[in-house]
Amino acid sequence: MTSFSLPLHPLTSYGWDDAWADEFAPYDAEGLLAGRVIRVDRGQCDVVTADGVVRADTAFVTPNDPLRVVCTGDWVAVEPAGNPRYVRSYLPRRTAFVRSTSSKRSEGQILAANVDYAVVAVSLAVELELGRVERFLALAWESGAQPVVVLTKADLVPDPATLGYLVEDVEQTAPGVPVLAVSASSGEGLDVLEAVLSGGTTVLLGQSGAGKSTLANALLGEDVMEVQAARDVDGKGRHTTTTRNLLALPGGGVLIDTPGLRGVGLWDAETGVGQVFAEIEELAKHCRFQDCAHVAEPGCAVLAALDSGTLPERRLDSYRKLLRENQRIVAKTDARLRAEIRKDWKRKGAEGRAAMEAKRGRR
Ligand code: GDP
Ligand code: ZN
Repeated sequence: MTSFSLPLHPLTSYGWDDAWADEFAPYDAEGLLAGRVIRVDRGQCDVVTADGVVRADTAFVTPNDPLRVVCTGDWVAVEPAGNPRYVRSYLPRRTAFVRSTSSKRSEGQILAANVDYAVVAVSLAVELELGRVERFLALAWESGAQPVVVLTKADLVPDPATLGYLVEDVEQTAPGVPVLAVSASSGEGLDVLEAVLSGGTTVLLGQSGAGKSTLANALLGEDVMEVQAARDVDGKGRHTTTTRNLLALPGGGVLIDTPGLRGVGLWDAETGVGQVFAEIEELAKHCRFQDCAHVAEPGCAVLAALDSGTLPERRLDSYRKLLRENQRIVAKTDARLRAEIRKDWKRKGAEGRAAMEAKRGRR
């Protein structure tokens, strides 16, 4: 291989790849600048480009639909000059994190785009609450990102056998999800996590106190944090460097940490709930009735698994609870809006993943 001699695109460390380059080609032909949004705030956004961080106006890309506004993580086409310079368009999103707002209409609000990994931080300092983990996983799956459970503060569980059991417990709750135990204090497991996250863009989810900030600092490294702090000191004038919500990780990959994303609630996550409880959905395929509610129907494969002990009752209860919760939210949400989002994101998510897989295959 001679690929080392090829010049790296300046945005590679921010997640730029061949698939993005292909999508951007028509904008490139127009002379527009490619960049990734590192922060948004009322009508403006900060975009990291090959020319550094530029501030751009989002008036052209701010429709009435709250899910179609530019958000952190978007790849955008920016005018090369002008005062103000405008964001002309953004590339189709591979994935998107949406949360329910507290408004009466229960509309979604877009929090982050093009996220590859959703790390669900779970503290080992307190008793494991699997139901809570499942809720975060539903949200993660729904976004289109790959969930990763990180059991934090592993230094507080010094007995390796006990730690092993805890990891196994969570693994059983999370089919298809890697589960890692890490400690920011001792450094245990951080190298593995860094390696996993080096392949894409990550967000950190989890309860307050789960260790997300500490983990973010550990991933970013001391130097980066010092730099950030130093820049904070020299005043508000240099806004573009003080509060970026998207950072390149020194070990590769990108971290998005936007306010509001961390404790995000469920929003129309039926597909996500299904993925969390994949084994129940698999069982349900074998029920005698297609519309089986798994309550008292004859020939119910879910109830049979419950009786035989292969399916824990807690798991079924949690599944039902999350489905009910989700249905309440969905009932409040405008159906048209939902249909549109599904059509758009699910398709683009699949395309994005296919492109990513193709890229991985080439390495
Ligand atoms: P956040 O609310 O999820 O951002 O959690 P923080 O990162 O603020 O951490 C919450 C508390 O857990 C703090 O007191 C941290 O010092 C502590 N903590 C975080 N990581 C570790 C760890 O690896 N080991 C131990 N023992 N404590 C930790
Ligand atoms: Zn059934």
